[in-house]
Amino acid sequence: MTQDTTSNPTDFIRDIIDDDLKTNKNNGKVATRFPPEPNGYIHIGHAKSVCLNFGIARQYQGTCNLRLDDTDPAGESMEFVESIIHDIRWLGFDWEDRLFYASDYFEKIYQFAIELIKSGNAYVCSLSPDEIRELRGTFTEPGKDSPYRNRTIEENLDLFGRMRAGEFADGAHVLRAKIDMAAPNIVMRDPIIYRIKREPHYRTGTKWVIYPMYDFAHCLSDALEGITYSICTLEFENNRPLYDWIVERLITGLRPRQIEFARLNLSYTVLSKRRLIELVQEGHVKGWDDPRMPTVTGLRRRGYTPEAIRNFCAQIGVAKNDNLIDVALLEHCIREDLNEHAPRAMCVLHPLRVVIDNYPENQVEQFECANHPQNPEMGTRKIPFSKVLYIEQDDFMENPPKKYHRLGPGREVRLRNSYVIKFESMVKDDRTGNVLELHCTYDPDTLNGPPADGRKVQGVIHWVSAQHGIPAEIRLYDRLFSIEDPGSEENFVKYLNPNSLEILTTCYVEQNLKNAEPGNQYQFERLGYFCVDAKDTAAGKPVFNRVVQLRDSWAKIAKN
Ligand code: ATP
Ligand code: MG
Repeated sequence: MTQDTTSNPTDFIRDIIDDDLKTNKNNGKVATRFPPEPNGYIHIGHAKSVCLNFGIARQYQGTCNLRLDDTDPAGESMEFVESIIHDIRWLGFDWEDRLFYASDYFEKIYQFAIELIKSGNAYVCSLSPDEIRELRGTFTEPGKDSPYRNRTIEENLDLFGRMRAGEFADGAHVLRAKIDMAAPNIVMRDPIIYRIKREPHYRTGTKWVIYPMYDFAHCLSDALEGITYSICTLEFENNRPLYDWIVERLITGLRPRQIEFARLNLSYTVLSKRRLIELVQEGHVKGWDDPRMPTVTGLRRRGYTPEAIRNFCAQIGVAKNDNLIDVALLEHCIREDLNEHAPRAMCVLHPLRVVIDNYPENQVEQFECANHPQNPEMGTRKIPFSKVLYIEQDDFMENPPKKYHRLGPGREVRLRNSYVIKFESMVKDDRTGNVLELHCTYDPDTLNGPPADGRKVQGVIHWVSAQHGIPAEIRLYDRLFSIEDPGSEENFVKYLNPNSLEILTTCYVEQNLKNAEPGNQYQFERLGYFCVDAKDTAAGKPVFNRVVQLRDSWAKIAKN
């Protein structure tokens, strides 16, 4: 399970590259690219592809370009471009001066289309979309030729030029590759490579009213950038013959090779962009950076680190078959990272007031505590102790079972980093019967060790001094979906976990966290890992997001 991410991983793609290097294919050049479409924020699945493409470039001293694959104006925007750039940098990758936009190639791609027409490999088709679909055939039946298939080159050039000039309505004509309507692979049945679409583009404005289709634009963009390995996900496997068909007809010299790998599917999560957009637009979450979202921006706000995400991507590896990765593995990766790096702190989520009757009224003691139990380099901090404290409500029981090692009538417990206290009495709400306050006594001889008389005190609980504690809002997140594979459900929103967010507004954190830096993570002792919310935290009024619990609580539920 613990794979060293700094070592060089192996997988079937790297095997292909190794073989190519042995035969000096492409003169030993290794060039990859990550090609997101700027129509949404990138998510953990994209992170897998980012780690793969940039990781290969790093490993083979090659290059990886960042290319915004922006050939469809619908839904694309600069906001998404900026978020993608920011997120990939944050993940720890660098494309130096190789930031490209497919939209910068529009003129070149158009010229390639003209070339295809001139060589008799493309034609303008004037069927309606429905008619095109009808003639396409099925898996078992071949398609039929379009009546426009044998237009002359001159006629095609003329019509295509007028398509560009804006003479026709959307959908009136398309440009199709002239391949084979009887091809067993439906992708090869004269695929559409250009369409008319009057929609302003976020970069080219209204300059273009025709746009190349993905299959045409992508391979040519790869070729224009000198990409050697065009790594994409499995759903493009059937498109590879088309990729090669186009490249063979238009590109001389170095030709990029498409290689497909299995996309990341994560349990209790949806990763389809269309669905993530739906979650945001319909208000099921509070934006792309909602800490429950599997987006990089959401994970960052939740408190995930780039190291944990990279480590996760290394551990899942790269394979050829689709599978569903347990989200518990992602949680495991952040837990491991934060266990090592997050300083410890104390926080009370559900406060119960405790008065130490025998502690002097105005006295305050400062206890020096290690910030990390195994790492002295992380230093120490002072924690104030005083007469009135808060503990967790569930660290007290009026009628506890025998094995309950916390507070109850007649019982003692150790306060973490502090004294042993003993229950004396409680104050209840007359009406509801709820316990409002405990009265305890402390044993002054127990600060640095167990009681001198040998009596055993087993439990240790966390606490915050009431007079010093900082009121904080704490957001407890859980999985966004309550079923394992929401991605396979058409009506996936039906399976949203109604308890994916619980907001606690009456919490107290220790004084040291008053001005905790937004984005910083802590382990709240006994509670889990928490991150200072970077958006809603105001000076002196921290808001914390729970990153992950100390243990996998879902696994426990499954076992019981
Ligand atoms: P769409 O369905 O809108 O095309 P997409 O998720 O494929 O969305 P792109 O922006 O086209 O989004 O993806 C950029 C790159 O990330 C592509 O190379 C794609 O193969 C890869 N990618 C997308 N989703 C995943 C995933 N779940 N796992 C691994 N790689 C992914
Ligand atoms: Mg895509």
